[in-house]
Amino acid sequence: MRLSVIGCGYLGAVHAASMAELGHDVVAIDVDERKVAELSAGRPPIHEPELPELLARSLASGRLRFTTDIEEARGASVHFVAVGTPQQQGGTAADLTYVDAAVSALLPHLSDGDLVVGKSTVPVGTAARLAELVRASPADADLVWNPEFLREGFAVKDTIRPDRFVYGVPGGDAGVRATAVLDDVYRQAIDAETPRLVTDYATAELVKVSANAFLATKISFINAMAEIAEATGADVTQLADALGHDARIGRRFLNAGIGFGGGCLPKDIRAFQARADELGLDSLAFLADVDAVNLRRRDRVVALATELVGGDARGARVAVLGLAFKPDSDDVRDSPALDVARRLREAGAHVVAYDPAANGTAARLAPDLDYVDSVDAALTGAEVTLVLTEWSELKALTPERVAALVAERRLVDGRNVFDPRQWRDAGFEFRGLGRP
Ligand code: NAD
Repeated sequence: MRLSVIGCGYLGAVHAASMAELGHDVVAIDVDERKVAELSAGRPPIHEPELPELLARSLASGRLRFTTDIEEARGASVHFVAVGTPQQQGGTAADLTYVDAAVSALLPHLSDGDLVVGKSTVPVGTAARLAELVRASPADADLVWNPEFLREGFAVKDTIRPDRFVYGVPGGDAGVRATAVLDDVYRQAIDAETPRLVTDYATAELVKVSANAFLATKISFINAMAEIAEATGADVTQLADALGHDARIGRRFLNAGIGFGGGCLPKDIRAFQARADELGLDSLAFLADVDAVNLRRRDRVVALATELVGGDARGARVAVLGLAFKPDSDDVRDSPALDVARRLREAGAHVVAYDPAANGTAARLAPDLDYVDSVDAALTGAEVTLVLTEWSELKALTPERVAALVAERRLVDGRNVFDPRQWRDAGFEFRGLGRP
């Protein structure tokens, strides 16, 4: 099939290359000329495992090309909309200007029978509004909402073989036809019996934001328990292990630490709450607490680091290991690690930062940190060391290796990945989150 993908960011670039891998002819469109040039040259502008190889294969096959020209969407029969929906400047709702602009720009190039497929995460009600625009266009086209559940770090795998599909379709024959078309796009995964739920627009939009609200709530729940543990001398990691054995609860997303971040969870829970407010509903008021617990963990890490250097961070050399919001990604949007690094810098510390992939993206947002290209360079002479992203390279650090380089044996484990006893036995002042 001939497909277009509009928006070539974390979602769109992976989606476009994956669709070409599945055998489709794909034109991928972005307004960012630099990004289009990089992708066309086979250089992914983001760090995502498997993407370089996938991109190289797809480009070599001749089935994938990138352009800034939306006119080139003409001739494709399915058009994926994968542009950003960031938090509004000065507000908490989602900024829909990019989605609106992308759909408006696409409309003149649609042909009869085309399908516009929304993948961006949007507030409930958006698809119904955009469907009116599509219907009012000269072509006889339809709109589907097909939210994306990929996880950064596993994006390629999650796109080619997702754990489920959700199609929000229009009523009647149009919905039946749209379902058949999307099934053809995703044929391999559908034939492999990937669960697929066909529903209305509102439910499809809500599946995505409620999934993220649930995950955020689970993380903040255990982080709230970490606060209680800190006040009572309990150990939240053991608490989580014990809770996790209950199959109804489960152990995943129950890791206490510095909290969630990234380009999705924080802005999605804020936008979801803003949408509930618009609807006159108090139902999601608890998400403000989920957000607040999450942000307080950053305060806690800053306070622990400051305490370890004697109560005043001014002039202290601080090693920050990990800047991305999660391992195997260079994404620093709303990253708790980068936020902590910046706040210590603002407090006067000399922050020496290292991330296996995110130094570049971090430097664009926080140019005043001192970025180095190895763990050892960051550790050398450090008066306190903070491990803030659970990259394998960082989890593998040993007290012996760190002790040989740092000026002072002080460690804040922002992800609860180390055994405190091992570090204390090696003479470290060790601080975890929610641990005695
Ligand atoms: P991103 O910022 O990385 O990418 C968005 C891209 O859209 C950018 O390259 C931008 O230049 C481009 N763009 C903006 N306006 C455009 C237009 N009018 N025409 C063409 N291109 C345009 O964002 P992202 O992380 O890829 O997220 C995209 C959407 O997918 C968001 O709604 C997000 O919530 C959702 N989502 C993201 C993920 C994820 O893990 N990143 C997962 C699921 C859902």
